[in-house]
This record gives sequence, structure tokens and C-alpha cells, in this order.
Amino acid sequence: MRILVTGGAGFIGSHLCDRLLQTGHYVVALDNLITGSVDNIAHLAGRRDFKFIHHDVTEFIFIQGAIDCVFHLASPASPADYLAYPIQTLKVGALGTHKALGLAKEKSACFLLASTSEVYGDPTEHPQSEDYWGNVNPVGPRGVYDEAKRFAEALTFAYHRYHGVDVKIARIFNTYGPRMRADDGRVVPAFVCQVLRDEPLTVFGDGSQTRSFCYVSDTVEALVRLMQSEITGPVNVGNPDEMTILEFAEFVRKLGGKDSRIVHRELPKDDPKVRRPDISLAREKLGWQPEVGLEEGIKRTMDYFRGMVC
Ligand code: NAD
Ligand code: UDP
Repeated sequence: MRILVTGGAGFIGSHLCDRLLQTGHYVVALDNLITGSVDNIAHLAGRRDFKFIHHDVTEFIFIQGAIDCVFHLASPASPADYLAYPIQTLKVGALGTHKALGLAKEKSACFLLASTSEVYGDPTEHPQSEDYWGNVNPVGPRGVYDEAKRFAEALTFAYHRYHGVDVKIARIFNTYGPRMRADDGRVVPAFVCQVLRDEPLTVFGDGSQTRSFCYVSDTVEALVRLMQSEITGPVNVGNPDEMTILEFAEFVRKLGGKDSRIVHRELPKDDPKVRRPDISLAREKLGWQPEVGLEEGIKRTMDYFRGMVC
């Protein structure tokens, strides 16, 4: 198949490109490099089955020839990034999703939206299942991302209902692994790089907030299975193994063989207090569940960053 990946030079997008190429597809990666990097796809340069287009997905997309599937991943994703680029984040969720859906309609392609657990906001139900409508502060700092993705989900369903586009929505929970940026502010690269640099680990608030971390190859596998499936979703994609951020800091420190200090910093506004996916739907409909445990995944991530920060 000929497959378009928007956000293809980003963290998850570049791993998705690798996975699709390994299974014999022709891949077009489209990215404006606002938070991604050509370094993530440098190893694909020169391949006849891969093409990179430097383009902003909020502008009209022209692609010659057939496109069978569109994976729409373009969007700043780390809280630090979407706070630095609030307008761009709203635009890519709204205008970018509109353009990507328009292309899918024009090419009669199937379309997958990379949505997020942030549509649940600071959840009042735990764990979160797909039928929970969420608790989002539209005018808080995180609203630029959460509302952009909620709008993107609504637009995706409108194209499905009114134009008959074959769509799928994945609600991705915290995903980590090689090719995250060391400075993207997310907790995994932050703690891993702090341990490698012998710096104190910066736990926001008292660290009692929880997250559930999924290794990138597991997330990518779920996206591919969802695209191949008959279902529309939304489908939660994440690892249900939940821990507090303080426990996570201790885990990373131990794995790095260091006794780094833990320092506390102010908790960002509207930081969700708990997060854990209910993945019953993915298990049942996609036959999917995470395979890479936290220890293995963090070791691989540490190996990736070791060369860079030491
Ligand atoms: P990332 O920042 O590494 O990748 C996003 C990519 O999109 C970047 O390469 C960026 O340059 C590109 N992009 C942004 N705006 C664009 C625009 N207007 N035009 C073209 N390209 C644009 O982030 P990621 O972690 O790989 O996230 C990928 C997708 O998955 C995002 O849509 C994100 O919301 C979603 N997601 C990720 C996570 C996670 O934990 N990593 C969790 C939930 C959802
Ligand atoms: N966090 C932290 N220290 C850091 C970075 C993040 O304690 O240096 C916390 C953050 O407040 C949140 C959790 O770790 O509670 C996960 O943050 P991340 O930015 O990775 O993603 P989020 O799940 O908030 O989107």
C-alpha cells in the first residue's frame, strides 16, 4: 500500500514509518519539523520506497498518485511543546486534521487519528474507558492540546458520518522510547537524562500523581492493528501498569545504578492526578496488549540517550 504518515519525522511517527516499511509498504512522511527532526528518519534517506515531504499539514496537501491510508500524527505532543506552541497546536488539531481528512476523502483512503488520553483531562473516572467523556478545562494551559484533539475527534467522526470516510481513532496514553527529544520536558526523557547526567530528578508536586507508560513498539503495533481492523473506535492504546511519578523516579534511578537526589518542583496547572487506560476494547477487538515491560523499555531508552548526553 501507499501510506501517508503526517508527523512522520516525530518520535512515534518515525517508528511507525520503520514498521510500515518493514512490512513492504511505500511510505510518504509529511512533517514541518516544529517538534520533530530529520535525524529520526535520516536512516531512511535514499530508499525508493520512502519519501519525505517538508510541509505544514495545516496548508493544502498535494500528493501525486494513490494513497491508501493516512496516519495523522502531526501535532506537538509534550506539555512543554504545546505550551510553547499553543496556536500551532490548536491549528494542527483543527485545520491540520481537516486537511488530512480532506486528502483521505479525495484519495478514498482510510484514516487514523492519533488522539490522546488528554481528551479525558483530569479524569474523575478511573481507569479511563472509551465511553468516559472526560473532564477538560477549556481555558487552562493544557486546553490548547486537549480541545484541539477533542475537536479533531469530532471532525473525524463528521467525515465518517457525512462523507463515509473509513476512519479510526486511537487514544494514545503516555508512550516512551528512543527518539524522544532529551529536552522535550516529558517525564521519561527528563528522568532518564537526569540520571545519566548525575543531576537531581525533578519530581513535580509531591509525585503522587500516576501515569502508565507504554513502550513505543507496542503503541505502533496497536496503531497498525487498528488501521487493519473493522472498527472505528475510539480505542485506548496504552499500558495499564500504573505507578506514581515518585515511584517512577525511584525506578529510573535504581535502573541507572545511581542514588541521584529527588527534588520537588511546582506541579503544573491542571496536571492530571491519575491516568490508566482500560484496554479491554483493544484486547478484544485488536487482539493487542503491551509486550515490553517497563524495565526492558527504560533500559532501551537509557541506551539510546547514553550516547547523547554523556
Ligand atoms: P512528536 O512531537 O515527536 O511528533 C509530532 C510530529 O508532528 C513532529 O515531528 C512535528 O514536527 C510534527 N508536526 C507538528 N505540527 C505539524 C504541522 N502543522 N505540520 C506538519 N507536521 C507537524 O510527538 P509524538 O510523541 O511522536 O506524538 C505523535 C502523535 O501522537 C501526536 O499527535 C500526539 O498528540 C499523539 N500522542 C502521543 C503520545 C505520547 O505519549 N507520545 C500520547 C498521546 C498522543
Ligand atoms: N513530571 C515530573 N517531572 C518532570 C516532568 C514531568 O514530575 O521533569 C510529571 C508531570 O507533572 C506529570 C507526569 O510527570 O504528572 C507526566 O508528565 P509528562 O510531561 O511526561 O506527560 P503528561 O502525562 O503530563 O502529558
